Amino acid sequence: MPGTSSGRPLPDGISLQEMMKSPSLPCSNGDASTESADDAPSVACKECGGTSKAARACGGCWQVWYCSKAHQASAWDKHQRECKSWKVAKHSELGRYMVATRDIAAGDLIMADAPILIGPKQITEPVCLACYRPVDGSYKCKKCGFPMCDSDCQDADTHQPECEAVSGSGRPVHVTLFGENNPLYECITVVRLLALRDNDTILWRRLMALESHEERRSRTEAAAITQRTVVDIIMERMQQVDKYDEDLIKKILGIIDTNAYEIRLPDSSIQGIYSQASMLEHSCIPNTHRTFDADLNLVVRAAVPIKRGCHLTSCYTEVLATTTVRQEHLLTSKFFTCCCPRCVDPTELGTYCSAILCPSCPIEKKSKKPLVVKDKKVVPTGVAIADDPLSPSSIWRCNTCDNPVDADYIVRMTAVVNEEAEELESTNPNIKMCETFLEKWSTTFYCNHTILLNIKYVLLHLYGSEAGYELADLSPIHLLRKEGLCRQVLSVADAIVPGISRLRGSVLYELYQSIFYKTISMYQSKVIPNEIAKKLAKEAYDALVECARVLSFEPPVQPEGQLGIEARGEIKQMIKWMKEEGWKTA
Ligand SMILES: [Zn+2]
Ligand SMILES: [Zn+2]
Ligand SMILES: [Zn+2]
Ligand SMILES: [Zn+2]
Ligand SMILES: [Zn+2]
Ligand SMILES: [Zn+2]
Repeated sequence: MPGTSSGRPLPDGISLQEMMKSPSLPCSNGDASTESADDAPSVACKECGGTSKAARACGGCWQVWYCSKAHQASAWDKHQRECKSWKVAKHSELGRYMVATRDIAAGDLIMADAPILIGPKQITEPVCLACYRPVDGSYKCKKCGFPMCDSDCQDADTHQPECEAVSGSGRPVHVTLFGENNPLYECITVVRLLALRDNDTILWRRLMALESHEERRSRTEAAAITQRTVVDIIMERMQQVDKYDEDLIKKILGIIDTNAYEIRLPDSSIQGIYSQASMLEHSCIPNTHRTFDADLNLVVRAAVPIKRGCHLTSCYTEVLATTTVRQEHLLTSKFFTCCCPRCVDPTELGTYCSAILCPSCPIEKKSKKPLVVKDKKVVPTGVAIADDPLSPSSIWRCNTCDNPVDADYIVRMTAVVNEEAEELESTNPNIKMCETFLEKWSTTFYCNHTILLNIKYVLLHLYGSEAGYELADLSPIHLLRKEGLCRQVLSVADAIVPGISRLRGSVLYELYQSIFYKTISMYQSKVIPNEIAKKLAKEAYDALVECARVLSFEPPVQPEGQLGIEARGEIKQMIKWMKEEGWKTA
């Protein structure tokens, strides 16, 4: 049967009229292409070359035309291999980027990119070099001395490049420190990538096509460090000096810095180099969502509806970070300045995520709570934001009294408090510690400042899980506190990581719980009438449904994937309960 012989179902056909309704216009979830994204389509049938008034484009890509449904179907077997919702375009300044060739719905698969190579992260604690579980040294590879799980892991193909390089030198390694970062592992992925040159021409060509910024990287501190920890080790310790030249190793280090994706495994984190996905442009409000499947393919989906002509974007830095921190990270590791709509907007899309409270304004003028009135954001008062967020030396100014605030002071103070916050997070803090921290700094930073938001994110999970604060035992005040924290973090997440995002999914679950328990407790003690309880239950239900939708794209091996499965189960219970109470969900 044509069109059904293999793989994906045949997409619908799109008429020219339908297509014209979706022109390449600027849109809110990504920069629209400023140049014509698609060359004028040739409406000649891809199958027979004929033209017809009824010609229809393939609905999967909007890039090829057919004179009839029959010809679309007969061509599908071959076309489906190249049918995708995006294409690579070139811009004189941007370089290569990906642009949507059709309207893409939220959740639609954009690509599943197979890795060029997987390896341990540059900075990692000792892990098995085959399965990447942390190791303790009880088993060592008989040939190279690297700690592994057992002989099976030792013989795995993935481990051979570094194993051969080390054993060839006649000096096996001795790893003695476990459970902390070990510089010996910094060269592993590099050695594996180098080995592709002689072992896999196709992958090697893909690797060499990736951006490395080696020129600019050569003047950085990272280059000086890796000269000792990687280049010298490979050349001298592993005696590869006849095989590779130094510039090639540096180029590969640059490719890793620029392109590697971190992959979270249950017990450790590793990295993967991908060729197609590396063309995803950066934005601090990404319109795509990334996960990894069981084979470590990088799976990219639309996080929000994406219009034809929009660039596809992904975020390559921490989203819950201030503009200064994001810019610095992108500049030092990826060598570019981000000019996304969030970065150029001093208010960061109304979230005021980098804002501090004005030191000059009287206390009653300063907004200390997030100002959301009936879902409508209100501009906070007494907050200082940068005139030009892209300039590190920009003047900061209060939006109410107009007094300037010294940018140097803000940078220094933010760095100090950020360190305090990171230290707090690393100690597995309890509710009291988080609340004390927030209390201490709530007169300095605006409530949505990312330093406070990161702690609030930790805290909203602790209410309901910490011993003595289990959900069923939470006091009404603590339930309200949990709900308020959820709503605040969610309102920022909705703006900066909209649609399908792990951040939204995980907060939505906590929000559902807090509303649900609040409703139950008030309803059972008859504090609220049936009608209000019904309305609240629906609100909890909606949060749960959205949570399940958002997390349904996470792999089950990840905690968020597990949470999504739990949420789906709880939807059923919730429907049953609401039915029993006589409340409909629809
Ligand atoms: Zn035809
Ligand atoms: Zn197609
Ligand atoms: Zn292993
Ligand atoms: Zn070995
Ligand atoms: Zn940005
Ligand atoms: Zn002021």
